Amino acid sequence: MAAKRIVNFSAGPAALPVSVLEEARENLLSLGETGIGIMEHSHRGKAFLEVYGQTEALCRELAGIPQNYRVLFLQGGASTQFFMIPMNFLSSGDVADYLVTGSWSEKAVSEADRFGDVHIACSSKDRNYCYIPPSCEFGDRPAYVHYTSNNTIYGTEFAEIPAVPDDSPLICDASSDIFSKPLDVSKYGILYAGAQKNLGPSGVTLVIIRDELVERGADDIPTMLKYRTHAEKDSMYNTPPTFGIYVMGLVLTWIKDQGGLEAIAQQNQDKAGRLYAYLDESRLFRPTVEPGSRSQMNVTFVTGDAELDAQFIAQAQQAGLSGLKGHRSVGGMRASLYNAFPSEGVDALIACLQEFEASHGS
Ligand SMILES: *Cc1c(COP(=O)(O)O)cnc(C)c1O
Repeated sequence: MAAKRIVNFSAGPAALPVSVLEEARENLLSLGETGIGIMEHSHRGKAFLEVYGQTEALCRELAGIPQNYRVLFLQGGASTQFFMIPMNFLSSGDVADYLVTGSWSEKAVSEADRFGDVHIACSSKDRNYCYIPPSCEFGDRPAYVHYTSNNTIYGTEFAEIPAVPDDSPLICDASSDIFSKPLDVSKYGILYAGAQKNLGPSGVTLVIIRDELVERGADDIPTMLKYRTHAEKDSMYNTPPTFGIYVMGLVLTWIKDQGGLEAIAQQNQDKAGRLYAYLDESRLFRPTVEPGSRSQMNVTFVTGDAELDAQFIAQAQQAGLSGLKGHRSVGGMRASLYNAFPSEGVDALIACLQEFEASHGS
């Protein structure tokens, strides 16, 4: 008998739709009628190729990915993209522009530094990344511009795609908000995301890349680190993360059943909106981020008293609400409300906050 599932606010890996988990469970022992479990199928066999084709087709359909983009399923997490991008597109002597809005952006910068020069187009480090800078100052014709669309740790998110200099491809780490709202892929050179927040299990990284960048990538680098290698072989130069690709397909089907990205965006706005509305009214709790910069995915908040924060987190845990402790660099609380996080979980959190406020508020 399986243990009771609790409300999981984890920032990643994160909650998946129960229907997805149930379907995956069914197919662990036999994928459909094949008699072979999903993890045991050859990546070159007909059954898996069908799974792969479906996952890619769903990505393209949901996000409206144009024909001149490739969809790749890679490994090494978003963190591998931090160095694969400059390794392919930043030669020594070139400059790339980075928007620095949190520690994931900082990590991306420190990898790019190994390959060429980095110009910081904007940064919100002065106030511990609690806002999205209102404007950027770009260098002269940067090789590319890199930004992090949602800052998982600090609870900030770009409300708009930043405008970048003509001819400079925009590259986005969308690990924690990909497919949470409609996407205009044509604005990007590359969009990438580790799957474990909004798309499925850890171990697979979705990379959506414009053909022209696939062509342009460096040649004198290891085979596995060239986008060209993976594009030419449909992500099957080596064994791809088959199980992750399969589960991502189930998650994308679930998103489609919800009504696609428009409908998911509505749900996400509703979930985060209700929580922010409560926090804005509360006399005990307050959000750490100003309205224009707030994330729909990761809602960060504090009481202002670390001791009270800890008490609340313990009480919430008792009530079956897990994963609410904020990242150590911010403190306080963080509620991660990715696509698959259920609306009832937000109700449960608000009820728990209200109860705590009633017994501790002034
Ligand atoms: C989680 C996260 C990462 C790190 O992803 P890995 O797949 O663990 O390498 C990078 N960027 C953002 C925005 C994240 O949220």
